[in-house]
Amino acid sequence: MARQTNWAGNVTFSPKQWLIPETIGELQSAIAGQRRIRIAGSRHSFNGIVDSADTIISTEHLNRIIEIDTANGEVTVEGGARYGDVATALESHGFALGNLASLPHISIAGAVSTATHGSGVNNGNLATAVTAMQIVTADGSLATFSRASHPVEFDGMVVSLGALGAIATLTLKIEPTYLVCQHVFQNVPLEPTLENVDSVLGAAYSVSLFTTYGDRTIDQIWLKHRLDQGDPVADLLGVEPASDKLHPLAGHDPTCCTPQQGIPGPWHERLPHFCMEFTPSSGDELQSEFFIPREHTVAAYRALMALHAEIQPLLYVSEIRTVRADSLWLSPAYGRDVTAFHFTWRQKSSKVLALLEKIEALLLPLGAQPHWGKISIHRPTGYVRMSDFLSLRQSFDLGGKFVNPYIERVLGI
Ligand SMILES: Cc1cc2nc3c(=O)[nH]c(=O)nc-3n(C[C@H](O)[C@H](O)[C@H](O)COP(=O)(O)OP(=O)(O)OC[C@H]3O[C@@H](n4cnc5c(N)ncnc54)[C@H](O)[C@@H]3O)c2cc1C
Repeated sequence: MARQTNWAGNVTFSPKQWLIPETIGELQSAIAGQRRIRIAGSRHSFNGIVDSADTIISTEHLNRIIEIDTANGEVTVEGGARYGDVATALESHGFALGNLASLPHISIAGAVSTATHGSGVNNGNLATAVTAMQIVTADGSLATFSRASHPVEFDGMVVSLGALGAIATLTLKIEPTYLVCQHVFQNVPLEPTLENVDSVLGAAYSVSLFTTYGDRTIDQIWLKHRLDQGDPVADLLGVEPASDKLHPLAGHDPTCCTPQQGIPGPWHERLPHFCMEFTPSSGDELQSEFFIPREHTVAAYRALMALHAEIQPLLYVSEIRTVRADSLWLSPAYGRDVTAFHFTWRQKSSKVLALLEKIEALLLPLGAQPHWGKISIHRPTGYVRMSDFLSLRQSFDLGGKFVNPYIERVLGI
């Protein structure tokens, strides 16, 4: 079997077999016949979440769009479908999703399983759009769950780290298409930004701050404005929008980025930072991210500034976004509005891990929880519904078919 890695190449998978079912029926047979399994989406996670010493089942061919139900405002897709492909199909029918992550290349089941998010003070993470799912459980049977049929447990099933079974299909809420324009503001003064942090984070439908934690400015602030929500801001704390197109990583070619400079376009060509047809971000990178209760945004920022001299040599850039509170048990935004502090690191694993110890020492006391799909050190704590999730997992998978070392570590089982 050819060597298989995650997208960044920092995790080499080690299964005895790698299966690629073509149909949900084949997925069911594969699951029924194996002892230990992990499901792979598009493999954009940065830690061992997908790995298995036995069997990895890839959903890359389970990527069909099953139905766009315009009457009920829902789309149903197979779990391996990528956001970019589904978005293009929705747009051609005059429909849209409420939000997207920074890249369109990720599978929908893989993204919602780790509570992947975009930005926006009024936007929940991508998992909050899920209204129903079909899951292939440990014995190979296909079970259907929806918010309506399982009003209590459904909140525990969507962000589930692949620990309940294989998500065969998902149904997502959709809405009529909308236009977005994107403006980038460079070198926004730091102190006024921190003094007005709530209004900066809420200055558009989706807002991203890109910083390297210097003491004078925020390097770039990206505002993604919905045209059906009035006029975009003319300036940000006195700074005019950039007239050139920019990449969030200094010195990188911005061709791969979605159009900026206020040019209006459909939602799916503006909400992600990167275009579907290009490699996103740097590629040669690691990522970490921590979710902080919104009220501690400035405290977290200042704590990270104190580590600037150690962060700066390892960092491409840090991105700060917001996620609205939700009710999903394993969501880092469960019951709390959060600010997400993301780090795109150079691929220097041991140095990054040593620095993460220091970063976590500063952020965990502020209530930080790490992104499930990125690199962190300490076992996540503070999930008030964790014991409910552990009971749910046992009811799905008593024999531990979908357990791997990552699941044992983060769930403490
Ligand atoms: C360049 C880059 C940019 C990123 N930008 C963002 C961002 O903007 N916001 C953000 O929050 N994250 C971001 N991420 C992280 C990424 O969104 C998550 O790691 C996400 O989980 C990746 O989806 P995937 O399909 O690659 O899942 P994988 O990495 O393949 O799998 C992740 C988890 O999902 C499970 N899974 C996958 N498919 C299924 C299925 N069918 N059934 C059951 N379980 C399944 C796996 O078992 C595993 O537990 C980024 C990553 C990269 C590389």
